[in-house]
Amino acid sequence: MSVFDELGQEYEEVVFFHDPPTGLRAIIAIHSTTLGPALGGTRFFAYDNEEQALRDVLRLARGMTYKAAAAGLDLGGGKAVILGDPKRIKGEELLRAYGRFIETLGGRYITAEDIGTYGPDMDMIRRETRYVTGVSPEQGGSGDPSPVTAYGVYLGMRAAAEEAWQEHSLAGRRVAVQGVGKVGYHLVKHLVEEGADVVVSDVDVDAVARAVRDFGVDTAEPDKIHAVECDIFAPCAMGAMIRDDTIPELKCRVVAGSANNQLERPEHGEALADAGIVYAPDYVINAGGLINVADELQGYNPNRAKARVETVYRTLREIFEMARDRHITTSAAADAFAEERIGKIGRVRLYWVPGGRGWAKIWSRG
Ligand code: NAD
Repeated sequence: MSVFDELGQEYEEVVFFHDPPTGLRAIIAIHSTTLGPALGGTRFFAYDNEEQALRDVLRLARGMTYKAAAAGLDLGGGKAVILGDPKRIKGEELLRAYGRFIETLGGRYITAEDIGTYGPDMDMIRRETRYVTGVSPEQGGSGDPSPVTAYGVYLGMRAAAEEAWQEHSLAGRRVAVQGVGKVGYHLVKHLVEEGADVVVSDVDVDAVARAVRDFGVDTAEPDKIHAVECDIFAPCAMGAMIRDDTIPELKCRVVAGSANNQLERPEHGEALADAGIVYAPDYVINAGGLINVADELQGYNPNRAKARVETVYRTLREIFEMARDRHITTSAAADAFAEERIGKIGRVRLYWVPGGRGWAKIWSRG
């Protein structure tokens, strides 16, 4: 493959790190720093080959630019991958070598958790670089983002309800939640507290049992939950749940959940609109976790982070309105919303990058 062809016109920087003594092989992709430093997690995964790893990091970095921009953050988009099986090669030496590499980028890239990396790993990376978020509360970090993500999804669901029924209350609405793991569990709590009628499913029977015990919710089979008669379907498990075979089976008026990459392909956004279903774009409604870790950059304040997550409601209302006005899908409107913010704010804003001594203020590249 040609790396430069792969980068096209879009990406600012792609860095390959190699530290033979620890076996560290990592790629960091910075898609955009127009709005600020590029924040995105580190995925630690045994890719089949380097090409697959590069494609993944590029795709994910681009997604972070849109997510941060739509969330109203002063951050750009980036992502990192470490190639290899974390169970075999992850250890203090490798993580600290990785932290040193991040430090060499001088703050243009800031990392966080992703698949295969966890809070304690971030604490380890923190010993070598400041440019890491998602560290433990003992280290001044924000800890597990899932409850905050769930809160944002709950508020986003109210915005979607307003769009569908001109009434944001979820009381009496039947909501089918697919996946009651870290986010789904907390989402169910908010829904039940508001008086929604909730049905859940999970492939993990213990997760289902916990939700039933704590909230008295109904249950459905994992392969049937999307087809349950309901007002709102909330995918909170894996991606690509909205696809050719599931769309005709949906019996809801709204799709709003935490899962990443809910649409298997972009055209599934159109299929949902054609079916009269309001779709809350995934990267907008699930931005609470990113908003929460981003708050660490100012010294984590849970109340401020929570207040910022509340913007998810207003942002979704704007995106729904944009979709209506322009006769486009809500997913296309979310992309346009993010691109327009990058265009407008990137032009005027100053952002902070670290200088030799402390922080220096420079013009953004926008
Ligand atoms: P998790 O692993 O804690 O929970 C996912 C749950 O889905 C698990 O209980 C799993 O058993 C279940 N599941 C898997 N396959 C299923 C199936 N076919 N049917 C029903 N249940 C199934 O993960 P999480 O942190 O709760 O994240 C859920 C989704 O939200 C993921 O797509 C994640 O990428 C996304 N997300 C999470 C956060 C966060 O803060 N944790 C932030 C943004 C996006």
